Amino acid sequence: MKFGYYNRLGEKQKATYRKSDAIDAVKVPDAGALEPLVGQLEAALSSGKRLATAKAASALVLELCRQLAVPAVRVTVRAVRPEIEGGELHGLYTFAEKGTAPTIEVWMKTAAHERVVRFRTFLRTLLHELVHHLDVTLLGLQDSFHTEGFFRRESSLVRQLVARPQSKPAKAKTPKPRQLALFEMGKARS
Ligand SMILES: [Zn+2]
Repeated sequence: MKFGYYNRLGEKQKATYRKSDAIDAVKVPDAGALEPLVGQLEAALSSGKRLATAKAASALVLELCRQLAVPAVRVTVRAVRPEIEGGELHGLYTFAEKGTAPTIEVWMKTAAHERVVRFRTFLRTLLHELVHHLDVTLLGLQDSFHTEGFFRRESSLVRQLVARPQSKPAKAKTPKPRQLALFEMGKARS
């Protein structure tokens, strides 16, 4: 299944979309080594402290980049999610440009009640933005589209990092196209 916007893409973009859609997973070389970093991130987020959360999120992402042998990406954690049409912004990936490092931004509090978001939600958003980074670095894609393959890669990272026993194997969650914009707007080219 292709998302509706596929038909509006140019031929080169369509080829990039299809490549993206065909890749189901990103294998983390040593997921076990990330366990303490995931634990530190969960603890930092539940403390509600932004700087501690930023430090832990950055440490986790940098270790993932190191293991996958891709260029580092800067991680910024912000407080209250900005409201956007139809929802609120969860995260944002800004591509590297001349002289600037690529950046991941994630928000830790909901716009509606300024509550700290659930850990799983926060981690999934962080990894979602990392998949954009991996698309253009690790996978060498020309652009990073939200495809079903993209969301499967995101889910594969979540599963490898949070290996908690579940009664049923978790199905890859593909958001409805309408929800795609909740992840990022504006700066991301998608
Ligand atoms: Zn995205």
